[in-house]
Parts: sequence; C-alpha cells; structure tokens
Amino acid sequence: MFNKILIANRGEIALRVIRACREMGIASVAVHSTADSDAMHVRMADESVCIGPPSATDSYLSVPAIIAACEITGAQAIHPGYGFLSENASFVQVIEDHGLTFIGPTAEHIRIMGDKISAKDSMKELGVPCVPGSDGGVPTLEDAKRIGAEMGYPVIIKATAGGGGRGMKVAQNADEMESAFLTARAEGKAAFGNAEVYIEKYLTTPRHIEIQVFGDGKGQAVHLGERDCSLQRRHQKVFEEAPGPAISADERARIGKICADAVAKIDYIGAGTIEFLYEKGAFYFIEMNTRLQVEHPVTEAIFGVDLVREQIRVAAGLPMSFGQDDLTINGHAIEVRINAERLPNFAPCPGTVSQYHAPGGLGVRMDSALYTGYAIPPYYDSLIGKLIVHGRDRPEALARLSRALGELIVDGVDTTVPLFDALLCEADVQQGAYTIHWLEKWLDKTFAS
Ligand code: ADP
Repeated sequence: MFNKILIANRGEIALRVIRACREMGIASVAVHSTADSDAMHVRMADESVCIGPPSATDSYLSVPAIIAACEITGAQAIHPGYGFLSENASFVQVIEDHGLTFIGPTAEHIRIMGDKISAKDSMKELGVPCVPGSDGGVPTLEDAKRIGAEMGYPVIIKATAGGGGRGMKVAQNADEMESAFLTARAEGKAAFGNAEVYIEKYLTTPRHIEIQVFGDGKGQAVHLGERDCSLQRRHQKVFEEAPGPAISADERARIGKICADAVAKIDYIGAGTIEFLYEKGAFYFIEMNTRLQVEHPVTEAIFGVDLVREQIRVAAGLPMSFGQDDLTINGHAIEVRINAERLPNFAPCPGTVSQYHAPGGLGVRMDSALYTGYAIPPYYDSLIGKLIVHGRDRPEALARLSRALGELIVDGVDTTVPLFDALLCEADVQQGAYTIHWLEKWLDKTFAS
C-alpha cells in the first residue's frame, strides 16, 4: 500500500480523498494555487505545496508543477478527483514515466473513452446498446444533411471531443442543420481543439441513467446499480438519486451485467460510469466517464461502500474488497449540488461566507470545503457543496432532504438552495416523474412569470 498520496484537485473532492487516505493510514498531500492558500483542503491535508497562480491552467492543470510536488514530498501516487486532469491520458502517461501511480484507469482506456466516437465503437463491440447515429465522424455539411434526412429529425450534433455539455447542438429539422452543424464544430474546435462532430438521433423524452462500474484491472468487475441524473440544467446535473425511480430490479440486473461484463473484458481498473439515455424501457449508451463522478456518494450510501478507498486499493494492486454478490441495495439516496450562484440566471456568485452551518443527523452527509469566513475564489467552478441524504425509501429520503436543506446555513453568498426548496414542492419531483427536459421547462415556466 502507498505511504503518501498527492491529491491533484481542490474543494470538496480533495477533502473526500483526504478522508479516505486518513482512514487507511495513508499520508495526504494537497496542492493549491495562490488563490487557495486558505482553502480547507490545504488545512486538512498532512502536507501542502503551492503549485502556481490562481489560473487553473498554471496550477491545477500544470502537469510539471504537480509532478514536482510529488517529487518534493515523496508522494507515490496521485488521485485526480474529478474535472481538471482526471481524464487526461497524457497526464497518466507522464505519471507512469516518473515511476508514480495514477489512481484511476490506464491512459489507453482514458483515451478510448475520451473520444466519443471511439468510445461508442468499442462499447458497441462489447455488446452495450448505443443511440442510433452516424457511423463515426461527419466531415461535411452535405453528409450531415444526408444523415439527418435518412435518420429523421430531430438529431443532435456532438463534438467528438466534447464534454460538460459543451459542443452539442440539436437540429429539429433540415433548416436548422446548417447552423447546428457549424456551431457544434466551432465549439468543439474552440473548447477542445477538435472540430470533428458526429450525429445521433435526438431522443425527446429520455431519462439520464448511469451505471457505476468498478474493475480490478485483472478481468474482474462489478456494477453498483444506476443513478438517475435526469434533472439537468444546460446538460449539467443538479439533482441525482439512486436507485432510479423508473428502473426495475430486472432492468438493473440486465444492464448492470452488460456493463460489468464490458469493463471486465477490457481489464478496466478502478471506478467508471457508463452513461445511458433511457426511453420506453430501452437503454442507449452516450458516454463513459473514466473517473469518480461528482454524484458517487448516492451509490456509496445505498451500497454501504467507500469508492475512493476501493480506487486506492486496486491502484495499489490489491483485490476489490467486494464481489457482485456482496452488493445489495439498502434504501434510497439523493444528492443535490449546491452552487454559489444567483437565481434565476445561475450567475456565479463568489464572495465571503459570513456564516456556514452544515446540516446533520441520521442519513445526512454534507461534502463541502466551506467554513465560516472562507472567501470563495472567483477562478474555479461554483460547486460549494453536495448534500446527500439517505433514507429507507424515496419518501423518507425526500423528507430528510427537505429537513436538511432547512438546517443548512450559507450566509454572505447566494446559493442554489432555493431551487431545491422549490423543486421539493413539485408533484413530479415527489413522484420521480421527470425526463432530462423537465427542469429546463420548469425553470422557463417558473421564472418567466
Ligand atoms: P457531455 O460529455 O458533454 O456530458 P453527453 O454525451 O454525456 O455529453 O450528454 C450530456 C447530456 O446531453 C445528456 O445527459 C442528455 O441530457 C443530453 N443528450 C446527449 N445525447 C442526447 C441524445 N442523443 N438525445 C437527447 N439528449 C441527449
């Protein structure tokens, strides 16, 4: 086992990893930008190294600075968290070249899954059902128009290298194709340095259902059921739950086995998420994330496992501490993402937190790096906390969420808490009756008047 792990991240996810290290008796190293000198992850880690100025490009994304921090502190392994360098294959390569261990999948798997076309091709080959679409990249507008006509509208044009909801455009009909195609290409080029796009059938009433998988890198893999993350704003998740209210035990077992078998076949190591759109009883693969997800705690809650501990174990060459038969679902869990944003436009709202009080009690977990007096820097994303509740069933989890939101105090900045207070009053949310378009429509309706 490692003696010391460096965490190449900040905020709540850095704390999450430090906590797992501490329970395992492993020393932790925080890295930080000059804007984060007073951040909680720096205070909580055993050691810390300043790796650059506020801009993420020069600090949290600086591979030489992170490798140097490992060498200075003697850390043997790097946990990337999510975002930043967590899905960067060349980072993994550099880590290995320096004789260090990356806590995550191989560079090759990250590369395959990071390109949406090669990801889809390999999933298809592994027997995973996919959204109908173009076979590979679509080079010209003429090709795009031909495919749109063949497949039938609406279609979605996606940047091959896209992520985080960027580089995707919907064309409702042939007239919209030109602008959708050119915009998706331009966004792909600008944000990801790659203008290649592909086309998929646009599903009009799907849910977003994702399967958590975990492999040991030696041909063993399990699934840990699904998460329903259908409540999204601009393709970004805001509310996630497990198990999915619309998924039966039979469906879970069937799609779960397909996913576990697929990752076992490629000797996948560590945590991964296979994302699907789910419509009328059918699953359609959209992408695989080769990292720990923001919403992993809902899975941890219902299965009673520590996914970060497990990531560290398999990275150190140990076997997984559970097999498929050890994994049974207990109750229902919900996570809400609390952002420092001002409603109704969700404008980022950094500033000083004059008072912070985290909710507690049975079945409540608050993953946050806030503290009273903390100045939220304006340079990074606006997630300031994740509130996760666990109950014996969905109604209990909803009641607990409402109670916990009432206890949470974040003064000094605007947050998205009022959004969740309002959502919990909606019959559709109470019943779990939503598709990926529900929240956008609700926001339009609620804030238009
Ligand atoms: P990203 O990598 O940017 O997160 P994804 O491919 O995972 O992109 O898609 C993000 C979201 O976009 C999905 O959760 C869903 O809301 C929407 N989406 C993606 N593909 C389709 C599709 N074929 N039909 C309808 N909605 C889609």
